[in-house]
Amino acid sequence: MKYLLLCLLISCAAQKTEELTVYTSRKEHLVKDLFKSFEKETKIKVNYRTGKAGALIQTIKTEGEKSPADVFMTVDAGNLWYAKDQGILTDVDSKILEYNVPKHLKDNDNHWFGLSLRARTIVYNTNKVKASDLKTYEDLGSAKWNGKLCLRTSKKVYNQSLVAMFIDEHGYDKSREIIENWVTNTQEIFSNDTSVLKAVAAGQCDVGIVNSYYFGRLVKEDPSLPIKLFWPNQVDSYGVHVNVSGAGIVKTSQNKKSAIKFLEWLSTDKAQAQLANVNYEYPVNSNVKADDFVRSWGEFKTNSKFELSKAGVLQKQAVKLMNEASYK
Ligand code: FE
Repeated sequence: MKYLLLCLLISCAAQKTEELTVYTSRKEHLVKDLFKSFEKETKIKVNYRTGKAGALIQTIKTEGEKSPADVFMTVDAGNLWYAKDQGILTDVDSKILEYNVPKHLKDNDNHWFGLSLRARTIVYNTNKVKASDLKTYEDLGSAKWNGKLCLRTSKKVYNQSLVAMFIDEHGYDKSREIIENWVTNTQEIFSNDTSVLKAVAAGQCDVGIVNSYYFGRLVKEDPSLPIKLFWPNQVDSYGVHVNVSGAGIVKTSQNKKSAIKFLEWLSTDKAQAQLANVNYEYPVNSNVKADDFVRSWGEFKTNSKFELSKAGVLQKQAVKLMNEASYK
């Protein structure tokens, strides 16, 4: 009898698989294999749901206590800050995350953590521009770039976070001047970074501002394109503006232990390489190198003085500023 009971207990335990549900705005092909690796290593099954960041945050709020979501994962500190602001995330106390994720790439209250890094930087047409012609983000507003600058719309959170960095660095009024000068020089405003890259490659404009991984995707497809990334603000300046993809634990999660394990695992060496490489991004964990293709774009100093949580705090001001500067 005792033996039978023991067997029942064992089989019960064996049947109960741990599970985790991730709500993510990242494209399925960027996370699918990563989640599989986690499942393989930990035997914790990962369910996931994809969608737009704003819609997923709203869903989590609507589902309330009954939400199956344990982890919310998205891109840009502006979006991660918004998720925290909407009250859907909880703080995580983890020595592993504290050690693996640099302080400026996470929330001050540990509600979210950056997991991969992207640079928002200058791209130029190599037939029309020499690297020595370029200097800083601010300089793209000087007269020599008149009619030669292509930008993505100010509605995109990536640009709101970039302008938030300017406000942090220069204050509101000087930042507005910078953006006004950009607007004066603008050749065309596009709805996405890839269109900016293509316009620069086609010679419609000489320079543009894009996220590094979009450059990676396009150049991987066609290495003959006459475009290159430039790393601005390297000398006597604050460095390149970087942002993250990241994640936090949902406040109503019933699987917090597994959820923490998941975030910790994502910050470790092997997962960091996989997470960054699949999208031509940089790892946030400084022990891990970016892949050779990404490193071939050159080394650069990043603006580590700018805490990414400020991208959220200053977002409203950034939107107002771009409106005032008539940046569409
Ligand atoms: Fe993107």
